[in-house]
Amino acid sequence: MKYIRFKINELKAEKIVREIYGITGKVISVDGEIDCNFQVKTPEKAYVLKVSKADTDRRFLDFQVDLLTYLEGFSEEITAPAVIKNKKGNYVGRITDEGGNKRWVRLYSWIEGRLWSSLDWHPDELLHSLGKEAGRITRFLRGYDHPAAHRKLEWDISQADWTIEHSALLDDGIRDIATFFQKRFVAIKPFLMRLRKGVIHNDANDRNIIVSEDSDFPVVKAIIDYGDAVHTALINNVAVTVAYAAMGKEDPLPASLPLLKGYHEQFPLQEEELELLYDLVAMRLVISLTKSAINRKEEPENTYLQISEQPARQLLLKWYKTDGLVALAAFRKACGFGLNYHLKSSNKQKENVHSLESLLSFRRKHLGRSLSLSYRDPLKIVRGEGAFLVDHTGRKYLDTVNNVAHAGHEHPRVVKAGQRQMALLNTNTRYLHDNIIDFSRELLATFDKKLSVVHFVNSGSEANELALRMAKAYTSQKDMIALEMAYHGNTNACIDISSYKFDRKGGGGCPEHTWIVPMPDKYRGKYTGENVGKKYAEHVVEQIRNIRKKERGVAAFIFESIMSCGGQIELPEHFLELACEAVHKAGGVCIADEVQVGLGRVGEKFWGYELHDIVPDIVTIGKPIGNGHPLAAVVCTQEVADAFSNGMEYFNTFGGNPVSCAIGLEVLRVIREEGLQENALRVGNYLKEKLRELQKEFSVIGDVRGQGLFLGIELADENKNPQGAKAAYLVNRMKELGVLMSTDGPDNNVLKIKPPLVFSLENARELLDKLRMVFNEDFMR
Ligand code: PMP
Repeated sequence: MKYIRFKINELKAEKIVREIYGITGKVISVDGEIDCNFQVKTPEKAYVLKVSKADTDRRFLDFQVDLLTYLEGFSEEITAPAVIKNKKGNYVGRITDEGGNKRWVRLYSWIEGRLWSSLDWHPDELLHSLGKEAGRITRFLRGYDHPAAHRKLEWDISQADWTIEHSALLDDGIRDIATFFQKRFVAIKPFLMRLRKGVIHNDANDRNIIVSEDSDFPVVKAIIDYGDAVHTALINNVAVTVAYAAMGKEDPLPASLPLLKGYHEQFPLQEEELELLYDLVAMRLVISLTKSAINRKEEPENTYLQISEQPARQLLLKWYKTDGLVALAAFRKACGFGLNYHLKSSNKQKENVHSLESLLSFRRKHLGRSLSLSYRDPLKIVRGEGAFLVDHTGRKYLDTVNNVAHAGHEHPRVVKAGQRQMALLNTNTRYLHDNIIDFSRELLATFDKKLSVVHFVNSGSEANELALRMAKAYTSQKDMIALEMAYHGNTNACIDISSYKFDRKGGGGCPEHTWIVPMPDKYRGKYTGENVGKKYAEHVVEQIRNIRKKERGVAAFIFESIMSCGGQIELPEHFLELACEAVHKAGGVCIADEVQVGLGRVGEKFWGYELHDIVPDIVTIGKPIGNGHPLAAVVCTQEVADAFSNGMEYFNTFGGNPVSCAIGLEVLRVIREEGLQENALRVGNYLKEKLRELQKEFSVIGDVRGQGLFLGIELADENKNPQGAKAAYLVNRMKELGVLMSTDGPDNNVLKIKPPLVFSLENARELLDKLRMVFNEDFMR
């Protein structure tokens, strides 16, 4: 929108008041977003003269005047500007400016006091009185309505969708956060539309709040300027008031609570309204920042239009770091509501019942001891959201580890898809159902045509277990070739091909039918440097020869395109092409284990194996496909599927059930519709580039590698000796700084970065800043 600015100076304003109102006084210009405002002072009284901009719709001025005259009826209880009639007895007068534009003129009484913006300190009592005043106004406006209040208004939070198409105007530091809240807004909007509605003030910014001059105990006297009043959800007024009052506060959530308490005392809020408050506050800030960005482009000379930009930006950053459920718990407490069901897990009282000690000791006694816990001081995680996990105290951690929550922890669309189907039906594959067909069709569409048959299972281990059975059925052989330090799952057959398990603590060594080839690590492996793919592939050829020597044949060669447990090892160029060719020639099948790297994580391609020039015979998919729900799959060629279908039924109680398929389908759609693969590429490349810069600064970083959001940082000394203790220190320190990381590789010296794919550039910057901080610490030198 382009504001038509017209020059009304103080001299002209003085003339207007004199001629139209018959009032002579001293006129001083005061700030205004749209109107030209002037203070008019006579020896007896003071007024505000408002001259509208040229294209103002008269109906909205009539609405404001009507509203203020309505409030005058409650002047004992509400201080609001009185509207002064002009000499003709009208509340709204008309002038014509030099450009021949019609403009509307109003005169209001001036309310004495100080502006909120002039105070350096807003003690709790003052915030409380602001809440009371805002609540009181809402209460008195309950009986009021006007046709023009039902209007299109960019400042109305319920209409905040308009900001979505302008998000490109926001700068890098804030755009991702705005998008985060815009997505949440779209999800909550149906609930917002069902809440109580009415006319609200909608603009309690710090230049509209008049505070008493009593310097000892200042209280809010009035909230002025009804120019943005609108008929909308009543809770939006709370959100606006909170958004402005929390600006500039070190810790915005606690600052909002006395206000909320005061509001609730005057105008009782409902539990459903509080549920949305956190997001509505954020959206008001998103509106404000979007308006500023537009104004900067369209009307750069009007700095008043950007006055809230920096504080709004700072607040939005802080608000984003405040957990939404913790905020809700605090809002509920401020209004005297108890904690509701989904807050109980982050509830302190409940924590007293299940204290961290008691949880640990029960676990030690009654859960299998071979389960491990992360961190020296284990975390109790009670909630997840996007790229964050939240502990029992409400502390938010940036998650760089959990690749299972592929589309983001508790992605609302995925959660809804599961909830909806679970409420309807869950059975097995012995009945026809649409979900399994829709899911299969969309999943298979992501593959080469050759891979055309799918079986659904419940875990990565089960997928690999089935893949091994299929390979055996297809080749009538038992011998498997696998990579050193690879992990493929926890079943008998999977452990037997996982050198990461059988070659390490508690393992029984390499089984008779397993043939291991050296880990193709070009940084610290048997062969290093470039062009080592052929050398590593020679070992596959050699193992095929060794199998033959035993007068047996190869059943399968299984691999991950970027080894995860091995330490984020990227397979060298041509290794897979040569290895698969040799395996195929020997009559074996190739199994790509995509349990970790699949579904867009590697950025450039949807499947990890596509980084190489091969098409496997079997692909196993796990972790990310259910976004946390136990869902996995085996995709194979028609020939392999036919050989497996030898008459014995394959029945899997849970595999392919309607709930799992609804979830898997939604995950695929979210990946596509939210551009998660593209995000993995963009953020992954940025991270890798910046990590390589860090590597130049800190010699302990031996190698930075990986693709997309599947990266590794290997810590080593100048002789490439692994630095596992430093990696462990770093992971624990990063946790203290609010970032979850993990290590892997045979020497536990590789930091793995494999976050939910919603990990943003802003998240990446936070990670990098904190890594730099820790790399600078003495222990890391
Ligand atoms: N394959 C790979 C590459 C894995 O990383 C894992 C689990 N870490 C599995 C298979 C086994 O998956 P699950 O734990 O779901 O059984």
